[in-house]
Amino acid sequence: MTIGLFERRSRLRQKQVVSLIQEQLLPLVDENVSIHVYYDQGNRVEVYSRDTPNPNNVNNKKHPSARVIAKFPVEVIPPLLNNNVQFRVLIEGKEYIYRVGGSSGRNPIWAFRNSAKCVNCGIEGVEWRLCLGKDHHLSLKLHAANGRELTRDHIVPRSKYHLVYGTREGRDSWENSQVMCAKCNNNKSDTMPEGIQCWFDESTWGDDNWII
Ligand SMILES: [Zn+2]
Repeated sequence: MTIGLFERRSRLRQKQVVSLIQEQLLPLVDENVSIHVYYDQGNRVEVYSRDTPNPNNVNNKKHPSARVIAKFPVEVIPPLLNNNVQFRVLIEGKEYIYRVGGSSGRNPIWAFRNSAKCVNCGIEGVEWRLCLGKDHHLSLKLHAANGRELTRDHIVPRSKYHLVYGTREGRDSWENSQVMCAKCNNNKSDTMPEGIQCWFDESTWGDDNWII
């Protein structure tokens, strides 16, 4: 198995990326995984590789459908968010790509750029897990020490956003996002946060149906 960390249009200096990889990512990666770092046009800037005698060792035994490829400490991902970094994982000749960065993207992990802490109960994310799901897609998820997942919560629920702002545009904006653990997010469901008023009525809401 091979993991490549690619960067297209580098805004991070080459040296910074290399030290980030060497000092922070690599010590945490499973011994059976090899990592390659590439820049645009395949120019390799730094390589770190290990043999892969038994890739099955990195399978997640509890959840075989979500195969954990690598684990990273919480602090290493936010600096990558602005930099169009991709993870490329090669498993049995098949390549899987996960794009980490790019602020224009809709990747929910952007919600973690400033905080890794649940706004409700305060539980903190400590570990990112790069997983290959049953659906054959890579995902990167943040987990707390007790294993609970940290998620992106919509402050004003997506389903009610238009009742507050009179438009559905912006419901997925990062301004309408905060970090919540899966448990708190689940409990919150689509309830409105305190202090936020609905100005529009569901029954009459439409492009021209303003109450006031
Ligand atoms: Zn919580």
